[in-house]
Amino acid sequence: MNAQAALSGGAIHACCAAPLKVDIEVVAETGSTNADLLARLDLMDGPTLLIAERQSAGRGRAGRSWLSAPGASLTFSLAWKFHGPLHNLLGLPLAVGVALAESMGELGLPVTLKWPNDVQRDGAKLAGILIETRSIQNADGNRDQTCWAVIGIGINLLLPDALEARIDRPAACAPWLAQMDPNRLMAALLTHLTSVLTQFDAAGFAAFHRRWNALHAHHGQHVLIIDRGQVVHEGCCSGVDQLGRLLLDTAGTRLEIVSGDVSLRVK
Ligand code: ATP
Repeated sequence: MNAQAALSGGAIHACCAAPLKVDIEVVAETGSTNADLLARLDLMDGPTLLIAERQSAGRGRAGRSWLSAPGASLTFSLAWKFHGPLHNLLGLPLAVGVALAESMGELGLPVTLKWPNDVQRDGAKLAGILIETRSIQNADGNRDQTCWAVIGIGINLLLPDALEARIDRPAACAPWLAQMDPNRLMAALLTHLTSVLTQFDAAGFAAFHRRWNALHAHHGQHVLIIDRGQVVHEGCCSGVDQLGRLLLDTAGTRLEIVSGDVSLRVK
């Protein structure tokens, strides 16, 4: 990352074109920014961004790990409160993928999306997203119609050999973004994310499915859907529907796959 500028909440706010109502904290090191925000949700009243210069126990889906290296990775989590019940958030990971991909595109780095939510460059993973949610109890102890999502994001700005060697799959990086002032980069990502999250809260994934399909890495390609190491479906990808389900054309049938913990691989 650009060695001249250190990340700071004040500098990120100063780089935003319009004021954002988000508390921003930067820490030198932590285990997982998602875990830290999840532990503090009861004390938060508004959106909070936590950036770690070094994250030692980054989390992925289903207990997997997100690996990063100080100075080479941008790792952060954004806690955001949504109206409506938890199940409204089904398509949220895909909408966050759209936010990242569109902002990277605007910064001059074209990227694509692998269902459900990886940001890819040249077929390799550039950024990972992990969303962890909590419903909120109201004063009577009943479930309220609001919930928190903690949106964790890791982006490989650079890929030092030592980091690449630890990752079990092809990974990509973005030297073009690495040369930017990190505060300006974070401000651009945060501005786009807040706009997408506000729109998602109002209209759900239906407002994004065309935008997601325009960024889809595997449209028309033959893919495998894997669940706990086993191939459970195989077919041709036709993008996602208004709920974020993957449309998979198999022999004469169109399947709608819900993300859950399944994974997609190109055949
Ligand atoms: P799948 O592709 O199987 O659906 P996933 O992409 O959803 O899985 P995540 O849980 O988002 O997986 O991310 C964790 C996985 O990402 C790890 O198991 C590892 O394969 C890969 N990974 C970990 N760190 C990095 C990194 N810095 N860059 C690229 N890939 C990484």
